[in-house]
Amino acid sequence: MKIIDGKSVSEHLLADISLKLQSQKKNRSPHLAIIMVGKHPASETYVNAKIKTCEKYGFKGTLYHFPETITEKKLLDEIQKLNDYHEVDGIIVQLPLPKHISENQVIETISPQKDVDGFHPVNIGKMAKNLPALLPATPGGILELLKFYQIETAGKHCVVIGRSNIVGFPMSILMGRNSYPGNCTVTMCHSKTQNLEFYTQNADIIIAAAGQPELIKGNMVKEGVVVIDVGIHRVPDKTKKSGFKLIGDVEFDTVAPKSSFITPVPGGVGPMTIAVLLKNTFETWLQSNK
Ligand code: NAD
Repeated sequence: MKIIDGKSVSEHLLADISLKLQSQKKNRSPHLAIIMVGKHPASETYVNAKIKTCEKYGFKGTLYHFPETITEKKLLDEIQKLNDYHEVDGIIVQLPLPKHISENQVIETISPQKDVDGFHPVNIGKMAKNLPALLPATPGGILELLKFYQIETAGKHCVVIGRSNIVGFPMSILMGRNSYPGNCTVTMCHSKTQNLEFYTQNADIIIAAAGQPELIKGNMVKEGVVVIDVGIHRVPDKTKKSGFKLIGDVEFDTVAPKSSFITPVPGGVGPMTIAVLLKNTFETWLQSNK
């Protein structure tokens, strides 16, 4: 069994981008604009981590923080301003948004060329057609992990658990594309799937993104399976100074001994998400000629 070290792979990827950045003769750094609406302690933590990582690797990260009461129209106008601002290369909107603002409207207002979260229908469509596209960060990060560890995917049965727009759905498309990583026979499971273990027991690769703590247990997988655990859950733990620990969608202690490769939580998929966000921003910056 080999642990997939997402922390080290993400550092590798970012150090490589940082080197490439220094070799470019441009008069400004790649710039990521992060939009946040209202107050959410979890979102604030994610946003701070993104800005810190930007600074560490020579990017500029700017937070555009709007009050909970902002109207949808005003927010869309602000996004349009960032679309037009030539010194911004990437725009992301930290979810969730207040109920009076349509997530779809917001995502579709971001210019597809600056949509570094890869959520715009234009980028999703290009991804599905296997055309060059900005990939959603978490699925893109999982592809980077599979590549780094040279994990064979062609002809394998990949079971993706979850069908969200940000993880499960794009992941299932990517694993079925005619490329590497890809060329899998894909089964996408979701909340209405019956007899989940029938699929997981027949999986060569499991990508768990159900948002259910320790849903996948040792008796649900076969020997030699590759396991990518996307889930992140905080559970109380009196032995920790913080009073909690993080666990995933996979019961690590029972699944790891049967796996050929497995991502831990934390330190698996999580760090890759920010790395791919910066990779996407670097690519849009390279394409901008200003
Ligand atoms: P979501 O709640 O939007 O989607 C969960 C999906 O799982 C749904 O499509 C649902 O149909 C399916 N599902 C739920 N229960 C199921 C069950 N019992 N069997 C089969 N399918 C089931 O969640 P999401 O945004 O896709 O995130 C999933 C998990 O990944 C969460 O724990 C989230 O915190 C985590 N996450 C981690 C990262 C990261 O960077 N590591 C990024 C995004 C999400």
